[in-house]
Amino acid sequence: MKQKIKYIILISLTVVSISFLEYTKNQKIKEIDNQIVSLKTPIHFLFNVQYMFNKAMLTQNKALKLQYIDTAEYFTNLIKNNSEIKKFLQREKIKISKNEDNPVKDSKELYEIIKNIAEKQYLNILNSLENLKKFKNIINQTFMMVDLSIIVLTVLLIILYENKRHKNHLEEASFKDYLTNTYNRRKFYEIASMLPNDKKHTLIMLDIDHFKQINDNYGHEKGDFVLKEVADIIRHNIRKNDYIFRWGGEEFIVLLKNTDIEGGMKVVEKLKEDIENHDFQGLKITSSFGICETNVINDNILQELDRALYESKRNGRNRITVA
Ligand code: GH3
Ligand code: MG
Ligand code: MG
Repeated sequence: MKQKIKYIILISLTVVSISFLEYTKNQKIKEIDNQIVSLKTPIHFLFNVQYMFNKAMLTQNKALKLQYIDTAEYFTNLIKNNSEIKKFLQREKIKISKNEDNPVKDSKELYEIIKNIAEKQYLNILNSLENLKKFKNIINQTFMMVDLSIIVLTVLLIILYENKRHKNHLEEASFKDYLTNTYNRRKFYEIASMLPNDKKHTLIMLDIDHFKQINDNYGHEKGDFVLKEVADIIRHNIRKNDYIFRWGGEEFIVLLKNTDIEGGMKVVEKLKEDIENHDFQGLKITSSFGICETNVINDNILQELDRALYESKRNGRNRITVA
């Protein structure tokens, strides 16, 4: 659940950054498009003049001819340095009014004038247009690369995290007892070797009394249930920094870190009481305990602990013996 939330946050962040990048990119592209339009407009006016004049040439109707030339003049007014075109159109107008022929060469003449103006005035614009288009492509490609990198990075992060999680899970599993979800002996020796020896710690060894009878009388499953319940009772009575180990079949060791025997006694008494009073689905059980205070964990201490537990058994079970 926790990593699910992590992934949701990570993916949301990715989506937000990509959306932001897309938005920024679109804004940039829009700006460039606007610039392109504003650059293209004067060129269009030139084309329109040429187009209108050609139409005037093609029609035989005098009134229509004049109308087209007027429209051409209208577009001419929108162009800078237009005096030459204006003069040309005026001349053509007079010719039309006098019913003079306007040969095809006139159209070529206008084309030359327009070309001249375009070359002078708009060569730079065409250059800029090319550059803007190139710039637009670069922006598109750059943003696409950044988007892709973010996606690849997110996927990599998830893969790395999943790998680590899997590795941790395997490592954790190799240190755990599957049935009771407590640590095993391997973990015990690891923790023991790293225990700070300038502090007092308390070890409790617990063995369920007459456990074999539970298996014999109620079945193995009931035995398993009791083991899990006992582990839960222990878990409820210790702190976060303490440890429970399944030492053998129905034996547990509890390590209370930085706890002296007085503190330890309180815990063990509470444990004994809780197990004794617990209802194991219609079944009552007791446990025997050995307890000792130490600043190191070695075979000697474990033997003493075992001896103390044996004392409790020998003295009638359901009791605590201090090693
Ligand atoms: P005592 O009071 O002297 O401790 O007697 P006991 O019957 O508890 O001790 P004994 O060592 O004779 O029996 C332990 C039994 O625990 C034997 C074994 O079959 C059983 N056992 C060991 N591991 C498991 C397990 O994982 N599940 C179940 N259900 N039983 C287990
Ligand atoms: Mg037992
Ligand atoms: Mg035993």
